[in-house]
This record gives sequence, C-alpha cells and structure tokens, in this order.
Amino acid sequence: MKGIVFVMSGPSGAGKTSILKEVLKCNKNLDFSVSYATRERRPAEIDGKDYIFVTEAEFGKLLEENEFLEWAKVHGNYYGTSKNQVKKSVDSGTDILLDVDIQGAMSVMKALKDAVYIFVAPPSYGELIRRLESRGTENIESLRMRLEDAKWELEQVKHFQYLVVNDNLNHSVSQFEAIITAERLRVDRIVNEKGERFLFEEKTR
Ligand code: 5GP
Repeated sequence: MKGIVFVMSGPSGAGKTSILKEVLKCNKNLDFSVSYATRERRPAEIDGKDYIFVTEAEFGKLLEENEFLEWAKVHGNYYGTSKNQVKKSVDSGTDILLDVDIQGAMSVMKALKDAVYIFVAPPSYGELIRRLESRGTENIESLRMRLEDAKWELEQVKHFQYLVVNDNLNHSVSQFEAIITAERLRVDRIVNEKGERFLFEEKTR
C-alpha cells in the first residue's frame, strides 16, 4: 500500500511547526518532508532537519534539475518541496507530512489528487499578530510582510478539506491526529476494486 501525503498549510504564525513537531513525535509511520529554503537559518534550526538551507543560486539549479514537487516565493524567500523525498516515502508505504504555504499547497493540489489538505488557522487575526510578534523570529519588514500576506492566505481556506483552528496546542494536535487516523482508515485507500484489502494482497495470492 502506498503512503499518504498530508499537506499542512496556513499563515505564518498559526502554529503549524508546533503542531507538526508533536504529531511527528507520536506517529511512527509518518515522515516529514524537509523543504529547501533560501532564508537565513534561525538559531534554533538544524540544517537538514528543519530545512535544507541553500543559496538562491543553488535553489535555481535545483529548479532546473526538476527537483521540486512545488516551490514558491514566500514572504520574500524561496521554498521548495523535494519530489524525490516525497516519492521515496510514498513508494515505501510511509506517509509523509508537508508544511507548505498556500501557493505551495495549491500547486500540490494540481499535482496530487489523493493527498490530504489541512488548513491551520489562528483563532483570530489579532492573535496572529500577537503570536508573530512574541515569537521574536522576524525583523520588522518580515513581520509586516507575513501579516499582510496572511489576509489573502486566510481567505484560501475554502480550497482545503480540513480546518484546524489552533487555539490550544494539545487540542489541535488531537484534531490533527484524528484526521490522520480517519484518512488511514478510508476504504478507498485500503481496499482495491476487487474488494481485496491491499494489506493482505500478498497472503491472498
Ligand atoms: P518559515 O520561514 O516561517 O519557516 O516559513 C514561511 C512559510 O513558508 C510557512 O508558511 C511555511 O509553511 C512555508 N514553507 C515551508 N516550506 C515550504 C515549501 O517547501 N514550499 C512552500 N511553498 N512553502 C513552504
């Protein structure tokens, strides 16, 4: 059985990273898609684990080599998802979680019809401002850009299948896990056209 692609998106500051860290801790059969990024590494981030940090020239070369499933310029920097990484997980039967911006999620929607699209929203715009400011990771210009971009981003929720309003981390993690569990139990994912469970394919032959 192939792995499932879970695409998590939402405005910067909604709490996507906090949710995904908890979800990845508790889920064995779930990889994280480590994106390429041209922005500067934050002190707490690890190259190769949080992102693969590259220069704009390196990013351009990867783009030429057709390495990206999707890519986008987000709040002034380039980010891209590795096609190979996603394919490797899916082909080996491992689910994979992508954390991408809205433009990226919409590109994946065109490329992967059976992926799962989850929008993470803050409880309010005011709370988003508060979180981004208190996170202290952005300079004034980046903060302004992220808050401005969030207005359009929040309107795109209609294109997604699931909505998690992140007002409480534990609650949001539980909701996220419920989505993963439900998607893994979908009959069309585990039973083929003949009514056989893919899981038992080898044994029934
Ligand atoms: P940050 O700089 O705060 O880590 O991320 C900024 C935004 O870029 C977030 O909304 C995050 O979801 C998005 N992002 C991270 N990786 C990718 C990627 O590979 N592709 C796209 N399109 N967006 C990404």
